[in-house]
Order: sequence, then structure tokens, then C-alpha cells
Amino acid sequence: MNRPNLSESVIFPKGEKITNDYFRGAAWLEMLVTNDSTLNCPIGNVTFEPGARNNWHIHPGGQILLVTGGKGYYQEDGKPVTELHEGDVVKILPDVKHWHGASPDSWFTHIAISTNVQNGDTEWLEPVTDEEYNHLV
Ligand code: MN
Repeated sequence: MNRPNLSESVIFPKGEKITNDYFRGAAWLEMLVTNDSTLNCPIGNVTFEPGARNNWHIHPGGQILLVTGGKGYYQEDGKPVTELHEGDVVKILPDVKHWHGASPDSWFTHIAISTNVQNGDTEWLEPVTDEEYNHLV
């Protein structure tokens, strides 16, 4: 089901606005599972306003995205962008440089499952510039 005007998840709370410097545009995060040293698998619900996206980054332990609403993008370094819709699942292997975020014309929500976080913290890299982003499609 495509719900391009979705502004927040219909299932999980939208959470708090993200205030770090690793996103362009507004995004919100609700941690559904906080990290612990037994499971090593924190899980967050992330909501992006249209046009919002995170910087290029690397997860040393990998990540899984479960798309819960809207229309978004996922791109690995050196590869074409992939359009994402509700119900899509993205497996991001450890140490793969990538970014994810909303399309210009739609809100976007996904659940981000951070796997193997004992392997190290996310490494944040350069932003996806407006020039790169505007030439995706
Ligand atoms: Mn990621």
C-alpha cells in the first residue's frame, strides 16, 4: 500500500527529532529496543520528512531496514539508488558505505535494526549533497 502523505508511523511512535549533524532535513527517532550487551541489536523507528536523508555512513556490524511507510531511497556506494516502499526489507552488510532517506515528494518511515553492534559504532561520512540527491531520478 502506498501512502505518500504519511507523516508518521501508524504502528510505532514517531519519537524525538534527530538533532545530530548526520542528517539533512528533519528526521525523528524512537528507540524501540535499546542496546544491551546480550543481544547487541538495538532497534529504532525512523521517520524522514520529504527530502530528508542521512549522510553516507558505515555500520561495522551491519543493519537491516524494514520499510513501514512512504517512499524512500537506499543507495550503496558505487551502485544505483534503490526506491523503497512499505514492506521492503534491506539487508546492509557490515562495512558497506551507504545512505537512506525519503524521496523528495514523500514522507518515509523505516525500522532500523542494528546488528552486531559489538563490532563498533556507526562511522558517519560526508553528506549526500543536493546535487547528488536531485540527480537520483
Ligand atoms: Mn544505515
